[in-house]
Amino acid sequence: MATRKSARKPIPKCQLCGRPSASVICEACGAKVRAEAMRRKQQIEKGGRTDTGRR
Ligand SMILES: [Zn+2]
Repeated sequence: MATRKSARKPIPKCQLCGRPSASVICEACGAKVRAEAMRRKQQIEKGGRTDTGRR
């Protein structure tokens, strides 16, 4: 019988770089993701998807 005294705490890891981190995404990757998301958004807005005509 295994005693459940030493409960192992699941160490959160960064989902992107796999390093132990306080949250799912470490700060470094978080900044990266954010920057990329912003860039994408800007590109989409700039991309000229004119949604006019339908109301
Ligand atoms: Zn990371």
